Amino acid sequence: MSPSTNRKLRKLFHPKSWFNIASGMAFAYAVLWAASSANAAAPTQAPQQQTPQEQTPQQQTPPQQDRIPGGVALFDLGVSAAEPSVTYNDQRVMLLSKDTPEGKHWTAVVGIKLRSEPGNRTLYINGTATPFSVGKHTYREQHLQVKAKHVNPSQEALTRIGSEATKMIGVFKDFTPSPTHSWQPMIWPVIGPLSSPFGLQRFFNGEKRNPHTGLDIAAATGTEIIAPSDGVVVQTGDYYFNGNTVLIDHGQGLVTMFCHLSQIDVKEGDVVKQGDHIGLVGATGRVTGPHLHWTVSLNNARVNPKLFIKPELLPSPIAAKN
Ligand SMILES: [Zn+2]
Repeated sequence: MSPSTNRKLRKLFHPKSWFNIASGMAFAYAVLWAASSANAAAPTQAPQQQTPQEQTPQQQTPPQQDRIPGGVALFDLGVSAAEPSVTYNDQRVMLLSKDTPEGKHWTAVVGIKLRSEPGNRTLYINGTATPFSVGKHTYREQHLQVKAKHVNPSQEALTRIGSEATKMIGVFKDFTPSPTHSWQPMIWPVIGPLSSPFGLQRFFNGEKRNPHTGLDIAAATGTEIIAPSDGVVVQTGDYYFNGNTVLIDHGQGLVTMFCHLSQIDVKEGDVVKQGDHIGLVGATGRVTGPHLHWTVSLNNARVNPKLFIKPELLPSPIAAKN
């Protein structure tokens, strides 16, 4: 590794650089060994019925809107024959279309980064700046006392972490057009209690670290993981923090990531349907116990997976009401 790469990687792990994307990827999972599965002892409850369903683009409802950091903003673009061109932070955004008597009615679906400051943002619609406002939201905090050696990876590990982060971010930035301009509401990839929420703000020895960019579902090693919606497996690997990992591209910049698997049962290029088996829950990577870490990314913003789940399957992947 060159001295400049060395410096860059060290900078990534400097506390003041916590907002950096690469360290974001890394530190988001760095704490899992200490935190995420402490409460993995799962209460036993009957799983909900999750039935994959066909859905035509005309019937679809957009993801749930929540204009906060880590949320989703929806924009009604009205009717136009031509596909509008919409970008946010230089990323193409998801467009949904509905056939109406007047023509195609378009909706833009925009992911808002978890690290966004509340305030005014700009969406570009056919080149025209369109301001919108992101509200304030205070995510829960978790304070941990940990040994420094556990949060400061070795030089060799830093090199590996850097290249793995680049690979994963490459997928998050990709945009695969959808000819139907549709999406499919998701089902839970695993049934189990939520053991660490999305957006949890973590502190190590009093120092602010990256927030949790996914949510954790506690389940025993060997529990089946299924595809939450149709897509294509675009990356698999064994990563330093994330362990055995699968990334699925659902089209139009919507990507889901599954981490810490004990077994990966798909390969790059596999086409998966909602409900298809993709692998097994495990405790690979930097974790203390078995669980699934699930990330949803939209236009390269890690967003709250719950906004993409079929409303009837909320609030959690456990059947709470019986
Ligand atoms: Zn997690």
